[in-house]
Amino acid sequence: MAIYKERAIVLSGFRLGEADRVVVLLTPGHGKVRAVAKGIRKTKSRFGARLEPLVHVDLLLHSGKNLGTVTGAEIVEPFREVREDLDRLTIASSMAEAADRLAQEHEPSPMLYKLLLAALRELELRPPGRVMLAGYLMRLLEVAGFAMALGPCIGCGADGPHTRIGIADGGSLCRVCGGQACLVEPGTMALLEVLSSAKMARANELAVPQANAAEATGVALRFVEYHLDRRLKSVNLSSVMPREASLVQT
Ligand SMILES: [Zn+2]
Repeated sequence: MAIYKERAIVLSGFRLGEADRVVVLLTPGHGKVRAVAKGIRKTKSRFGARLEPLVHVDLLLHSGKNLGTVTGAEIVEPFREVREDLDRLTIASSMAEAADRLAQEHEPSPMLYKLLLAALRELELRPPGRVMLAGYLMRLLEVAGFAMALGPCIGCGADGPHTRIGIADGGSLCRVCGGQACLVEPGTMALLEVLSSAKMARANELAVPQANAAEATGVALRFVEYHLDRRLKSVNLSSVMPREASLVQT
């Protein structure tokens, strides 16, 4: 068994037997890693709270056939504000879950790791703005190679701006090509374009009308869900967004 050092964001964890825990980690060099933290649930465990979800840690790992083993963990950033404030925790959990679904095991994913880290750092400094989640999801799509095409109509090439988005088509559509596509406000389309390249700090400080923020979040979520082919179960729209977000239809 090889021993290696990695920096990681803890994405999630679950109990294993009486005293152990399996942690799911996002690392730059090894992608998604599942590893056992032995004895972590005993009161005197040396791991303490170091392997709680959303903590940024330096790890010493033993690679195993199926599951690795965590043999050492030091906190780099505890992200205490994120984990102790419900609004931040809700949004950060959704972000971590989306990254978890997109990351592949043992496939380096430095961009995915950097993006989640940037989002957590931003949330540690400030509460989530209206388009924080949408901004993260748009960047996530870029990083994963599923960027939304938001310029000319993807059906016929007609110049925009357009007001229809085809989720399965992968971007904006004109009136003719996008008869069945989801209709969005012009302001939402412009917002999505800004978010597709905005850094996390910028996305978090953008002041936009609530209706556009909600619509953009709905579209970004549908897009990510389409690519993940399953719903992001921890995303409870009503808790992070007003009701409009759930009205976006195909
Ligand atoms: Zn067209």
